[in-house]
Amino acid sequence: MSTIFTKIVKGEIPCYKIAEDDNYLAFLDINPLAQGHTLVIPKKEVDYIFDVDDQLLGGMMIFSKRVALAIEKAVPCKRVGIAVLGLEVPHAHIHLIPINNLGDINFSNPKLKFSSQEFAETARIISANL
Ligand code: AMP
Repeated sequence: MSTIFTKIVKGEIPCYKIAEDDNYLAFLDINPLAQGHTLVIPKKEVDYIFDVDDQLLGGMMIFSKRVALAIEKAVPCKRVGIAVLGLEVPHAHIHLIPINNLGDINFSNPKLKFSSQEFAETARIISANL
């Protein structure tokens, strides 16, 4: 069965899209730790990030860099932190999270709630900074 992220890639489930090319997709995390919390995935369905082949994994980091620089411009923050967990969704993904201090990237923190309009506006502003 397809992962939820493959369903997003195929357009079967909606997402707040930030960027896309032939191999990768970036979209907002729906349970964000911060405004602008973004996920970058390879379109190819691979569970564990360290099972992604070298070329695709290298490209994923370059794609993430471009997205992170756009997040930085769109959302006030000191840096964009990067994390890989993969405990919930078995489809490799990188979390890009705007941070100001160490505590901002603690996945035990309560997740933020935004309206669909707010998510859409955040995605629009980040995309505009790509
Ligand atoms: P993890 O696999 O532990 O890295 O966590 C998966 C992340 O995917 C969580 O932060 C979820 O909020 C996020 N997530 C799950 N389903 C969706 C979805 N349909 N759209 C956006 N983000 C999602």
